Amino acid sequence: MYTGESDYSIHYSPFRQDVRHVLSARLIWLLVVEATEKDVDGAMSRLRWNPQLGEWVIVSPMRNDGPFQERKDRCPFCPGGETEDDWDVLTLKDKFPVLSPESGVVPLNENVVMDAPGYGFCKIILLSKDHQEQVESMGDTQLERVFMEYLEVFKELDSAAGISYVVEFENRGAALGMNLEHPHAQAYALPFIPPRLARELEQSKNFWERDETCLVCKMLENELKSLESRIITETEHFVSLVPFSARLPYEVHIYPRDHVPSLLELEDRVLELGQIIRDTILRYSKVFDEVSYTMVLHTRPSFGEHPYWHFHVEFYPTRGSRVQMKHLAGLEIGTGIYTNDTIPEETARELREAV
Ligand SMILES: [Zn+2]
Ligand SMILES: [Zn+2]
Ligand SMILES: [Zn+2]
Repeated sequence: MYTGESDYSIHYSPFRQDVRHVLSARLIWLLVVEATEKDVDGAMSRLRWNPQLGEWVIVSPMRNDGPFQERKDRCPFCPGGETEDDWDVLTLKDKFPVLSPESGVVPLNENVVMDAPGYGFCKIILLSKDHQEQVESMGDTQLERVFMEYLEVFKELDSAAGISYVVEFENRGAALGMNLEHPHAQAYALPFIPPRLARELEQSKNFWERDETCLVCKMLENELKSLESRIITETEHFVSLVPFSARLPYEVHIYPRDHVPSLLELEDRVLELGQIIRDTILRYSKVFDEVSYTMVLHTRPSFGEHPYWHFHVEFYPTRGSRVQMKHLAGLEIGTGIYTNDTIPEETARELREAV
């Protein structure tokens, strides 16, 4: 049973570690099922391999429903709360992390390990000291600080031992059940590649090997000369658009024109990236009565060579359509099929005109 030492620990008793190499995968599976129940109610979360979907699940029973609980009467991040006063942008450890470095690095091999400690890092990035200063109301100085912080946090977590993927994202709005209003983003450093990204990486890699070019570069080239435009904004180095086959209403992607794999190569352009992200959120604020979205940075994995990968930002707003929200859960969760009840060209026009 895992006891929480800082050394690497796979979830097997000494007996099981000794014998696991000679056991068939099926037997190991049975042992794992038998062994797990009492271990997940401790202080640590666990990673469990789902062999039907070929993906890891984080089992984290102690987790609350947000990175921090915001008390009604007082925000923990406003001056006088839990943080010092003297900061412009601040990154903290998540108080209720779903992943933690305490267990030490966990090499995951899904053929052998089906259950492991929840190794990783969870950070919360406070985007402003001002409770009301969301991205769309920021001046350029603060905006640049915010996206430099995204870059610095990425750089630090990307080089941490045993990390396969760093995902930085912002969840915002009551529609997402966010109990924390203070402007903030989150960063997760994971010991595996998230399934959604694994699929996107695979598609890009296949295209790269077959056509000897980047899938996103090609898509961008097509979008820029398409007569029925899905483009929202173009800047010198970035383009925002509604994807041709957007899965969600008002979904927006932001692509650098240059073929770069991560934020690190965009260091001299973080302000421009921040500006086009601010532009997107401003447009949402004109179109929806409440700004609510998830924004995710899709970067390359933290190890290995990924010359085919083209960094980008994806936005999934949650206020786009009542019909969509009503039907999304059943079909999407049950089958993975998305039904978009808006036309990408029309939502692109609406967002383009919302200034
Ligand atoms: Zn606050
Ligand atoms: Zn590219
Ligand atoms: Zn993507």
